Amino acid sequence: MLHKLKRNLILLNAILTGLILCIVVFGACIINIKQIKQNDLNNYMSLKETIEYKLQTENMIEDSWIADLEASDRLIIHIEDNGTPFLYQGSIRFASRRNNIVEEVKRTALTEGISNRTDVSVPHKMHSLVYSLKDDANTPFYASVSLIPVSNGYLSLTLVQFYPNERKQIIRQIFIFIGIDIIGILALTLVSSFFVSRTLKPVAENQKKQNEFIASASHDLRSPLAVIQTSASALLVDGSDPRCFVPIINNECTRMSRLIHDMLLLASSDTKSWQMQKEYIDTDTYLIELYDTFSTLCRKQDHSLSMHFMQDTLPKLYADKDRLTQVLGILIDNALCYSPAKSEIILRPYQKKASLILEVEDHGIGITKEQREQIFRRFYRADQSRNDISHFGLGLSIAKELVELHNGKISVKDTPGGGSTFVIELPAVS
Ligand code: ADP
Repeated sequence: MLHKLKRNLILLNAILTGLILCIVVFGACIINIKQIKQNDLNNYMSLKETIEYKLQTENMIEDSWIADLEASDRLIIHIEDNGTPFLYQGSIRFASRRNNIVEEVKRTALTEGISNRTDVSVPHKMHSLVYSLKDDANTPFYASVSLIPVSNGYLSLTLVQFYPNERKQIIRQIFIFIGIDIIGILALTLVSSFFVSRTLKPVAENQKKQNEFIASASHDLRSPLAVIQTSASALLVDGSDPRCFVPIINNECTRMSRLIHDMLLLASSDTKSWQMQKEYIDTDTYLIELYDTFSTLCRKQDHSLSMHFMQDTLPKLYADKDRLTQVLGILIDNALCYSPAKSEIILRPYQKKASLILEVEDHGIGITKEQREQIFRRFYRADQSRNDISHFGLGLSIAKELVELHNGKISVKDTPGGGSTFVIELPAVS
């Protein structure tokens, strides 16, 4: 399912980013094409101004100057003096082509009232618009007609400039932009696939953990159910004594309800629906009360509980009293369970910098280095063969969640001489 979700997310990402990129690249392409056209037009206008200025200011225009300009800038410069064309026939090879183009431009200008007939008077400079036309060979060109007053009448200039490469340039630009677009889409797809994988990694890990959780929970629920089922079947056998089976069934029901309680507790922690009722706690008083509660329990189980105060006064805590008692209850319960009878369990509170440390020390079987990495995982039991009524491997994971809800940390170390010491570090109130 996650695989499909990942594929769909990458696809959606690629389509959306690709679409945005296409729009941006298309816009940039249009702007670039306009720029190419504008550059051609600007170039034409500046040539036109140069030639007009020369015509207006110089008496003699040399043919060689016109020929050079025409050849270097792909121009037709057609000049008429009071309606009579210059003798120069230009550098374009076929005079007919040149004449046709000039005539077409003059005709177009006439529609605007720009005429170079001999009888017109030209009181000031007159310009036609700049036309964008095409010749017989479909080559585009800019053209215009200007009438320039001079001392003995007027000169008319028909200026044509071809730009055969503009189309090629535009096509090249389009291909470049399509290339950029494709490379961009591929790169974005790669990047999005990387980020989608990274984003989904915790989801995949969570799903794996959940599957493990369900598998372990089902396994732990199956054994009491099997015992209940066997006892119920035995009860159906004629002559069996119900009194033998009722305590067994009762025991297994207690075991199941405890497991379900723990599982519900962890589930509510996962959904962040644990209600914390934090208050300012006088640590010394709280620990003495806690000692009173748990020392009786320890005595009943043939252990002794001692409290070792390292300082005269302890800093206050801002915590949920019941939850804190629950954490210490889990640690003391484990200490009782994993230590031999008559051994001592020590509660050791002390202040370290801005933290209050609570140590629960036992002299039991101890925890190996490898196990230390695992014990806070749900359903982890170092000794899987133990099928204790109340030990499902959930206690320490609940304790860890609760300590973290108090912005604290929990860890474990060896007790000198054997056993384990659980260390809770909580922020102290200054
Ligand atoms: P359980 O309910 O099985 O005790 P916990 O989550 O409380 O589950 O503990 C996980 C495992 O860590 C236990 O099964 C046990 O192997 C180990 N453990 C916990 N506390 C102690 C301890 N005080 N001494 C030795 N081993 C311990």
